[in-house]
Amino acid sequence: MLYNRGRMQTEFLIVGQGLAGTTLAWRLLERGRSFVIVDRDEAVTCSRAAAGLVTPVTGLRLTLNWRYDALHPEAVRFYREKEGLLGGRFYHPRPLVRLLKTEEEAAHWQRRRHDERVRRYIHPTPPEPLVDEHCIANPLGGFQQRHAGFLDTAAFLDASRGHFQALGCWRRGEVREDEIEIDESRACWAGGSFGTVVFCQGWEAARSRWFSWLPFDPARGTILTLRGDVGETRRIINRGCWLVPRGDGLIRAGSTYEMRFDRPHEADAREVDALLAKLHAVMKTGFEVVSEQTAVRPVIKWRNAMIGRHPAHPQLAIFNGLGSKGVLRAPFIARRLTEHLLDGTALDSEFDVQANL
Ligand SMILES: Cc1cc2nc3c(=O)[nH]c(=O)nc-3n(C[C@H](O)[C@H](O)[C@H](O)COP(=O)(O)OP(=O)(O)OC[C@H]3O[C@@H](n4cnc5c(N)ncnc54)[C@H](O)[C@@H]3O)c2cc1C
Repeated sequence: MLYNRGRMQTEFLIVGQGLAGTTLAWRLLERGRSFVIVDRDEAVTCSRAAAGLVTPVTGLRLTLNWRYDALHPEAVRFYREKEGLLGGRFYHPRPLVRLLKTEEEAAHWQRRRHDERVRRYIHPTPPEPLVDEHCIANPLGGFQQRHAGFLDTAAFLDASRGHFQALGCWRRGEVREDEIEIDESRACWAGGSFGTVVFCQGWEAARSRWFSWLPFDPARGTILTLRGDVGETRRIINRGCWLVPRGDGLIRAGSTYEMRFDRPHEADAREVDALLAKLHAVMKTGFEVVSEQTAVRPVIKWRNAMIGRHPAHPQLAIFNGLGSKGVLRAPFIARRLTEHLLDGTALDSEFDVQANL
């Protein structure tokens, strides 16, 4: 049992079992270290709501995702290893069709497509026509990306939790900051003694007494599950919004991106209407909305992630800022944090919490 209640000290207390907490727990396990991971076990969280997309060429500017050449193989290897251990299938490689929305975007793509770094992710001979035009509107054409896919995040988190539970190092509960006592060498919570507490709380760290000084910029998002026809069972389609066929007749579609919000789990009707309008513009044969989920992305301004020890309390650390790209980034960032915590390896200033002082 890795979690030693009472007298012996456990090395790490991980607060939160989203993608951040889960990947960190796996990285610590790979190094044979002791931890307990505590999670509220909510039905809808950011990691559970996520479509789980991993996409090479993204955004309005059609740029290559941050460090994709290194992060993509590391992420695929990580999820495949866990599938082997847990006996499930969580990561699904899928071609991704990006349809161009405006004349301006189409012109931009004509320039971008010659960029060598982007070209290696573009399929040289995509199907003709690119999409089934009975179902999908495609007035401006597009391109097909390879080395993309999606993670079934809920299945990955559930299977990981089962594994951690079997090892005796997962606990349902809430870690309240006022229940944590810190002295020079350790932190105590609920009768346990820990070398380091790592906060993997997602956007709620924006309210933390220890970490709220970071430039948090959380963004609420709503994702829909649809019944409809996109003429595909495998490829992901993106035209102003993305459509992920799940292979069971259902399609995940999204999402909204709202930086001003009061209620984290309530969708904004106007934002959802705007998303529905985009979906109607692309799905010619209509659709039925089966369900919707709303959650908040942990975004930190100008950063792709933020990790490290608290500058004044080294017994406290954070893993946050995965933004909209947690599936791709988490395995790499979790490894870097683990190397930092265990070996003292310096962090890149790009994601070092202390470089933000
Ligand atoms: C609509 C939507 C679509 C998305 N689509 C994608 C996508 O396609 N691809 C992609 O890569 N990313 C996507 N994301 C982003 C992705 O979900 C995030 O990057 C990632 O989930 C962040 O993980 P996290 O562990 O930091 O936070 P969270 O998932 O929020 O996890 C935090 C966990 O900590 C728990 N917790 C918090 N405080 C406490 C406490 N005090 N005690 C105990 N437990 C606590 C919470 O209950 C939760 O389980 C999407 C997000 C949204 C909202």
